[in-house]
Amino acid sequence: MSTPTLLQDQIAIVTGGSRGIGRAICLALAARGCTVVACARDLSKLQELAEEAAGRELPGRIDPHAVDVCDRDAVQALVEEVGSRYDKVQILVNNAGITRDGLVLSMDDDQFEDVLTTNLRAAFWFCRAVSRMMVQGRYGRIINVSSVSGVMGNAGQANYAASKAGLIGLTKSIAKELGKRKITCNAVAPGFIETDMTWALPEKMKEAVKGLIPLNRFGTAEEVAETVAFLAGPAAGYITGQVVIVDGGLRM
Ligand code: NAP
Repeated sequence: MSTPTLLQDQIAIVTGGSRGIGRAICLALAARGCTVVACARDLSKLQELAEEAAGRELPGRIDPHAVDVCDRDAVQALVEEVGSRYDKVQILVNNAGITRDGLVLSMDDDQFEDVLTTNLRAAFWFCRAVSRMMVQGRYGRIINVSSVSGVMGNAGQANYAASKAGLIGLTKSIAKELGKRKITCNAVAPGFIETDMTWALPEKMKEAVKGLIPLNRFGTAEEVAETVAFLAGPAAGYITGQVVIVDGGLRM
């Protein structure tokens, strides 16, 4: 059970908050008292999320913002707006992500670039802009949502695996650069989680994958969100530069 005031008065930015894992992360942080700036392209979904948090009477709240994370100027403008509205940002969760699967032999440049921009470049833009504020506040928690594909590689996902492995390198480098400023940076690497991203996989493939997972099931968005919320909280103060794998034992 979360402690309702654990993150009271803290400001978090969560990308990809409209659905799936990001949505669950927004609710988990709001349940601990955070004000969560939730961003994604679909504003109506974010507004529904804000209403849900209010309806549940969570101690924190959701502040919805429509942003395409692939638009560098929009990312910068959002972080500046958040800075002027709230003064500080203590938590950044880079969660927005896409897949455009295909074999390397037939993968075109756009397929590779779109995934790299959404999953990796955008995370760098957010880290750069938000860490400036965190340095001023001498405190911060950055959590990047990677994937076991970034750790193990995955046939048909060279673009996605490269972006997620890149996020791990970004995470460890930031952890080394900003540790002295009391800013931690960690990655969470989910395995197969029940969301829109995995919903479209053929049933046969899902069954085959389950057979490889010691816990014999896909994970839930809430299970990933609880790990992110732990890393965002005070109990994780001595953890940085780590990749926390949430995959039911798939990769061990
Ligand atoms: P999802 O259900 O497809 O949700 C993706 C989220 O990213 C949505 O909120 C989407 O919002 C947002 N997004 C995508 N492109 C965006 C853009 N250009 N600008 C702003 N927001 C954008 O995916 P998910 O399964 O929750 O995945 C969340 C993260 O976990 C991703 O980074 C994914 O790679 C990672 N992950 C997922 C799994 C899994 O099994 N599901 C496993 C490992 C890692 P809009 O469409 O409204 O913009």
